[in-house]
Amino acid sequence: MSKQDFYDVLGVSKEVDSNSLKSAYRKLAMKYHPDKNPGDSEAEKKFKEISEAYEVLSNPEKKAAYDQYGHDAFTGPGGGQGGFSEGFGSGFGSFSDIFEDFFGDATGQRNNERLKRGEDLKYEMSITLRDAYLGVKKEISYDTLVSCTSCSGTGSENKDGIGSCGSCRGSGRIRASQGFFTVERTCPACGGSGQVITDPCRECNGEGRQRKNKNIEVSIPAGVEEGSRIRLAGEGTAGQNGAEDGDLYIFISIVSHELFDRDGTNIFCNVPISIYEASLGGSVEVPTVSGGRAKVKIPAGTQSGDQLRLSGKGMPALRSVSFGDMIITLNVEIPKNLSQKQKELLKEFDQQSNRENIPESTGFFDKVKDFWDELNKK
Ligand SMILES: [Zn+2]
Ligand SMILES: [Zn+2]
Repeated sequence: MSKQDFYDVLGVSKEVDSNSLKSAYRKLAMKYHPDKNPGDSEAEKKFKEISEAYEVLSNPEKKAAYDQYGHDAFTGPGGGQGGFSEGFGSGFGSFSDIFEDFFGDATGQRNNERLKRGEDLKYEMSITLRDAYLGVKKEISYDTLVSCTSCSGTGSENKDGIGSCGSCRGSGRIRASQGFFTVERTCPACGGSGQVITDPCRECNGEGRQRKNKNIEVSIPAGVEEGSRIRLAGEGTAGQNGAEDGDLYIFISIVSHELFDRDGTNIFCNVPISIYEASLGGSVEVPTVSGGRAKVKIPAGTQSGDQLRLSGKGMPALRSVSFGDMIITLNVEIPKNLSQKQKELLKEFDQQSNRENIPESTGFFDKVKDFWDELNKK
């Protein structure tokens, strides 16, 4: 089933600014929110689409990926370490969260980030074409925030140091009047946790998280391409107050190869041959991207630019057992720096040549002659 374009879902253009995007989202989200349409599965489906589209388009990094790759940016093969992303979170916030966001801006009181899931991290990895051919496991090292080991992420030095929040009486939410509305919003004093820490953990200063350099092994599947993204679920920064951890995205770039060019699963290689081999035919050994070699027959009368196709000698297709082809372009090299003897031999060769040896030239110059003759007649 093809997925609807995120811009169409929200009814905005690609150049939309963040305020217009937000207001388009709010309008639709309020209309289709499940709380307003109980039991209406169509509305719920629509609401999920809206939320997903907004989640991607409101995040500059995800938006850029979407603009470049479309829905493919967030899909890919499973397996391996967390596999590829299967779409960003589809959970939806409560109706009051939408209002809260709405009024939060207006009053300039944004929620603090305490209840938020961990941040996604981006890691750029450069691999060789051979690694992309075979697939590879790589150990990477990166700085992140992990749950504090000293306080188990609670942020409190000891269990008794956590008390109920006075502002919201532990509910995590407070009610406020906005014109005609009474809106419930996240308690700014406790960030919605309903708790206050009276004795903050000394390791993390009550943050519940601490910096750590993390090493993990990443499996890069065979067939990855330039710009492929691999999502490692939960390997981003730790979530706070029990919220979900962020993800780690590995962005793949492939170092260009001195012998091979790649287009999807096909591999291209330019092979120079001599005028002797091109004229009489012969065979040449060419390298393959797998690291092997393949013997290729050159037909007599080969011209510069003629191509030969080696079936199945290209790159593996991602999530498949099939391979692309290797396409060899033969380039006839005209010899340079000739000796006197060589020049004489070539001259002799040329004197022996007839129209049939050079059909291209013969045909061309015949046409040129006709062209001039035609002009002179007038
Ligand atoms: Zn701590
Ligand atoms: Zn509170």
